[in-house]
This record gives sequence, structure tokens and C-alpha cells, in this order.
Amino acid sequence: MMTARDKLLFTPGPFITSRTVKQAMLRDLGPRDFEFIALVKDIQRRLLALGGVENAGYEAIPMQGSGTYSVEAVISSTVPPDGKLLVVVNGAYGKRIVRMAEILNIPTVVLKYPENIKPQPQQDIATKLKADPGITHVAMIHCETTTGVLNPIKEVGKVVRDSGRIYFVDAMSSFGAVPINLKECGIDYLVSSSNKCVEGVPGFAFTLARRDALLATEGYARSLSLDLLAQWKGLEKDGQFRFTATTHVMLAFHQALLELEAEGGIEARMARYQENYKVLIAGMRELGFEEYLPPEDQSHIITSFRYPKHPNFNFEEFYRRLNEKGYVIYPGKLSDADCFRIGTIGRIGTSEMYELLGGITRVVKEMGLDMPRRAAAS
Ligand SMILES: *Cc1c(COP(=O)(O)O)cnc(C)c1O
Repeated sequence: MMTARDKLLFTPGPFITSRTVKQAMLRDLGPRDFEFIALVKDIQRRLLALGGVENAGYEAIPMQGSGTYSVEAVISSTVPPDGKLLVVVNGAYGKRIVRMAEILNIPTVVLKYPENIKPQPQQDIATKLKADPGITHVAMIHCETTTGVLNPIKEVGKVVRDSGRIYFVDAMSSFGAVPINLKECGIDYLVSSSNKCVEGVPGFAFTLARRDALLATEGYARSLSLDLLAQWKGLEKDGQFRFTATTHVMLAFHQALLELEAEGGIEARMARYQENYKVLIAGMRELGFEEYLPPEDQSHIITSFRYPKHPNFNFEEFYRRLNEKGYVIYPGKLSDADCFRIGTIGRIGTSEMYELLGGITRVVKEMGLDMPRRAAAS
């Protein structure tokens, strides 16, 4: 049977994955099979290597569920009962951590910035930490997928480490697309998931944890299933997940890790995404669209564009017309500006970006959105 081509996804994950990653799932592997146990071990080893911390006192802990589940595992099971969390917020994912902490009754201090502003490590975070000795943990998002801004995790890490606090980074949409060395950044816990820039399919997420920090969290868990230390101990004991393992997803993820290596590692993947981003920005400016962030703060992962002020513009219609042509973009999530987002990640290259721009050009014509061209990308 011939199957029509799937629509091209310009979303922040799940997105387009390679055929071979999907094909890796065409097997049924028992969770107690030695082959599966070895596969999980190899995934853990490769994840630590990607984080620059293989044999360096860190552990990789996969956990079933989407990315949020692993973020919640870190927040709920590594902060002690008398702990206090500082959350640095400049978008929806930072807010989500604050909401988690509220539900978990963890005392929280929020350092909130507008969505187009990067956190200030010295000026604001160091000051907050000095002013409140009760703060034990600091959480921040790396690439805030809300806008695409890349937050300064290394600079913040230095401030957090110098002040002796524990540092958690949600690197969900950047891990695999931006080189991160956990040790150099002073990160104690980092979370990402199977369906972001490693280019696997959705189903589990993983935490890279500094072993000594993790071992000190005995008894802190506020739930059974999201207990990070117990999850790690289970895997250490006999290579088993405590609850049903996502066997097929892990087969796909292992294949995705091999393909990341074959591509040339994180640097090469970053270069491909950067090319995608350059093509996108140049084409969108040519059509008269305007980015939400200044270019110097913008990552190559996902870009927010402002709704054009043209009276004919209507996002639902714009989205539907693009969708009908086979191109799926992403709605905005900003609290203070009307935007839509276009992802430049996944198994896509510049030819897919040009295809998308062709589709957008046709929709712009159909909707009569004649806009003045903007200057070429700087
Ligand atoms: C995708 C993402 C998440 C997790 O979202 P899930 O829907 O739970 O997978 C968390 N933080 C950031 C920054 C993300 O991009």
C-alpha cells in the first residue's frame, strides 16, 4: 500500500523523525530481556557522554512519561522537606515549575522577567541568593520554548555554585542541539526528553544527575512514581524499570542516538539547525514577518513571529491554509504578545525550510497579506 507523505512538522517535538528511527520500533522486546537491559545501559552511557560527563560522577535516569514528568520528578523528589526553591521565569515552562512547586507545597521564590528578557545572573540571581539564605535550590529553563530565547545557564550556574545551592536546568528543547557540559555549567540535575533534539519519538524523559547530590535525597520523594532516586536504584539493581518500560520508544531512541553520532554529534546537529534557522529568518523577513526576539537572544531551535498588523491576517485561517498544504507550524504561548512559532528542529534540512517558505508565500498571496519587506537577516 502506498502511504501519502506525512505533513511536515515545524513544531518543537514531537516532530519529523527519520524513517530508521520509526523502523527501530518494529520489534517486541521483553523488558527483562538481556538485550533490552543492555540497550538501556547503552542509552544511559551515551546520554552522559552527550552531557560531557561520562565517568565523571553523574548518572542518567530515564523515566516513563513526557518531559514534564521528569521535571516534576526532580522538583518533587530532590528538594528536602525544609528546602526552598528559587525559580527563574521568563516563559511558560518556568511558570510550569512554579505551579508544580505550589501543588507540592514547596516554598518558592519567583524571579520573573518579561518573556523577551534574559535573566541577569549577577545583578538579580546572586542578589536574591544573598538576600535569602533559606533558598536551597535554583531552577531555570535553558531554551524557553515559549519564545526560543536561550538563557545563560553557565553564568547562572557559576552564581549558584558559588553560593552553594543545588542547580536544576530544564534543557528539554536544547539538549542535543546546543553543547552543554554539566560539570562546566555547575548543573546538578538536567532534564530532557525522548522527542526533542535527540530526534526520538515521545514516551520517556531523562534526568542527568550529579551522583552525590542524588544520593543525598533519600526520603525526599513526595510521590511513588516520580521518585528519581528510587527509579535510579531500581535500574542499578537489576536493570529494570520499576513500572512498565517504554520498550519500543527506547529502541527508537537508541537508534536516534546512533544517528546523532553518525551526523557528527551535537556540533553538527547544531550547524544543521542553524542553517534551517537562517533560511527561515531570511525568507520570513522577505515576506514582511517580524520576529519577537532580538536576533542576539534568539536560538536556532524555535522562533516566535509577531502576528502581522495587516487587517487580513487571522491566525486560525493562516494555520489552516498552511496545514492543508502539508505544513504544520505552532501557535504562540506568550502572555503579552500575539505570536506564532516555527520550529527548525527534527529530521528536516534547508530543503524543507524552503518548502515551508513556498507554502507561506502562497498563503500570504491567498489571504492578500501584502506586507513591506524587512531588511535581510543580520
Ligand atoms: C517540551 C518542553 C517541556 C516538556 O513538555 P512535555 O509536553 O511534558 O514533553 C518542558 N520544558 C521545555 C522547555 C520544553 O520545551
